[in-house]
Amino acid sequence: MTLPPATGPLLYEGKAKRVYATDQVDVVAVEYKDDATAFNALKKAQLLGKGALNCRISALLFEHLERLGVPTHYLGLHGDHWMMVRPVRVVPVEVVVRNVAAGSLCRQMPITAGTPLDPPLLDLYYKDDALGDPLLSEVRLERLQLVTSAQMEAIRDLAYRVNDALRQLFAEVGLELVDFKIELGFTGAGALVVADEISPDTCRLWNRAVSDAQERILDKDRFRQDLGGVVEAYGEVLKRVQGVCPEPRVYG
Ligand code: UDP
Repeated sequence: MTLPPATGPLLYEGKAKRVYATDQVDVVAVEYKDDATAFNALKKAQLLGKGALNCRISALLFEHLERLGVPTHYLGLHGDHWMMVRPVRVVPVEVVVRNVAAGSLCRQMPITAGTPLDPPLLDLYYKDDALGDPLLSEVRLERLQLVTSAQMEAIRDLAYRVNDALRQLFAEVGLELVDFKIELGFTGAGALVVADEISPDTCRLWNRAVSDAQERILDKDRFRQDLGGVVEAYGEVLKRVQGVCPEPRVYG
């Protein structure tokens, strides 16, 4: 296993990643694990190679966003499953943008999976595993006092810019960006940036050339629905994205 330069103490361990300090205060090292979880970690598995695939896909997408002027925490790759990033204070709100109805939207509303959503729908969830990441209303968000209303406007704006950028990129390689979740954070200097990861673990991606509702899935729904071929699907996403993006930069 390739260790990043001067890995310090473990700062945080999540379901799919570990975050380590480094010898630089303004750099942390993120290790992408092969662990797969779904349904608030009720379903778990080890998927060999998933960590490296998500690390590389995230790197390509972060660099694409940066090229379009969308700020992210990304600094560069190290080895095949480490990413060096700027430390941020993560806003405990999961921001979901939906271009096509799927997943929880169809469980909570009378809407058929696959229905296009124009304009895209933006949903906010309170990031709290113990509470099961509940859907937030405007007033609940205000009551939580997690962000000011101006910061919330900036978060929404950034989420729509991420959607425009990624939707177009994926369309170029024959993939439909159905929906995705991003997390945002504030750097030490107070800048709002896209943080965490953007990968088939956090996006729904459908192969546009395939009409079968299960076969077209190239994302974590393959794991959630026991469809098999999860790592192969993620590999297909990587192959397509790297076909239209420059090689991600190596940190250090
Ligand atoms: N998502 C995520 N982490 C979460 C919840 C959702 O990355 O904790 C992603 C999910 O993969 C999908 C999008 O956010 O691309 C919308 O998910 P949804 O609300 O439909 O929930 P789900 O059906 O996945 O429970």
